[in-house]
Amino acid sequence: MNVNWLQEVEKRKQHIIQDTQEFLRINSVLDETTATETQPFGAGISKALLHMLNKGKEHQFYVKNIDGYAGVVEMGEGAESVGILCHIDVVPTGDGWVSAPFAAEIRENKIFARGAIDNKGPTMAAFWAMEIVKELQLPLHKRVRMILGTDEESNWRCVEHYFKHEEMPTLGFAPDADFPIIHAEKGITDVSFNWNNHEENDYSELTLISFQSGERFNMVPDKAVVSINGEEKQLVEMATKFNLYLQKNQHNGQVEQTGDLLHLIYEGVAAHGSTPENGLNAGVYLTKFLTQFVFQNSANAFLNFIVEHSDQQGNTLGIALSDDVSGPLTVNLGLMQFKDKGEAQVGLNIRYPVTASFDDCFNRLNKKALEQQAIFTIHDHMEPNYVEKEHPLIQTLQSVYKRQTGEEPTLLAIGGGTYARSLSTGVAFGPMFPGREDVAHKKNEFIDIDDLFRMTALYAEAIYELAKDA
Ligand SMILES: [Zn+2]
Repeated sequence: MNVNWLQEVEKRKQHIIQDTQEFLRINSVLDETTATETQPFGAGISKALLHMLNKGKEHQFYVKNIDGYAGVVEMGEGAESVGILCHIDVVPTGDGWVSAPFAAEIRENKIFARGAIDNKGPTMAAFWAMEIVKELQLPLHKRVRMILGTDEESNWRCVEHYFKHEEMPTLGFAPDADFPIIHAEKGITDVSFNWNNHEENDYSELTLISFQSGERFNMVPDKAVVSINGEEKQLVEMATKFNLYLQKNQHNGQVEQTGDLLHLIYEGVAAHGSTPENGLNAGVYLTKFLTQFVFQNSANAFLNFIVEHSDQQGNTLGIALSDDVSGPLTVNLGLMQFKDKGEAQVGLNIRYPVTASFDDCFNRLNKKALEQQAIFTIHDHMEPNYVEKEHPLIQTLQSVYKRQTGEEPTLLAIGGGTYARSLSTGVAFGPMFPGREDVAHKKNEFIDIDDLFRMTALYAEAIYELAKDA
């Protein structure tokens, strides 16, 4: 079968642009205030979902509304299916847009709108890819099933609901990350060590009243604040040392002292939890300064624990695992809290290699918690996503990508999580081409119209190649 896929896309370019603009003009931000039983994520998302289902019906696809949580647009027959997992919800717009975020204005061959690249533009690309394969009347032996998620940007309640009630595609892709292909995503878990040591007697000269750094497991804290009680003279000395420490590190911070109370603030640099090496952990830096002093026992233990376990590979936690596919495990100390009289928490965001076992990690961390007399809690866990490079899904997508772009279809491994994780055999395939500016979640989000066509052509051929054989 010799099809010029890009040419087929260009024949339909007016429709594709129009449909994309029309879809982008629906404000599909999560809105709990208008949520009902039939529209669990609010009126806007419901409108966008019904819009896609109606469009599917118009184009003679089989459509199904999964209780307002998700939608299905499907074609073909067969026991097996190729899944295309998209999402129609968008993040809030924020300020500073040149044209209104739901105007979908075209400037310089780009469509500007919230959701243009994440993920409504690519959803429309995949929809038209299905349409092209259908119009060409190519013989298929698998069904092609587009799954429309509605809560990707928040809690993934859409896919949770969908997979409880509907089939898992045999294999598939999610056009919600990067080209060429992301085939390995590390396992991600949020865990905490907690202590609750109420001390009756405290003979230390300095008392750590509170320590606070970080708000989320998966961010490098950019600020740390400590309050210390002690003799005024001693605190003055400490403040001087703190200023020298800041100077030495060439970092910013603040000192406030009133009598026997001292507040120190350390300023770091935020980064995503999957790349702690790109940030500057304010909590860890402040802790390293504080461990030269002696506080009450529970505070000393808290501070020492942080310093001892601040390496980002998990060496001292005993979990420094690594594999060739996805690289080393990473640890982000995202939360560090100490409240008066020994209530303490250290929260970690851990991303472990795709071939490592979570049970193994868990056992090692649990052992560490026992040693430290801490309460160990798992707050969240997502298994790794990994499809081996020999798998037909990968082989097919690679050859399609190489044929159409002429570029090397490099397989990517990441520490982040993409929507493809929800599929049992699925990878992220686009929509961002290598070297493009990442505008998802930012003001003036856009999709380049040539890229829109290129991805439509890639998706069309991928759909055909994946679905043609039984
Ligand atoms: Zn997305």
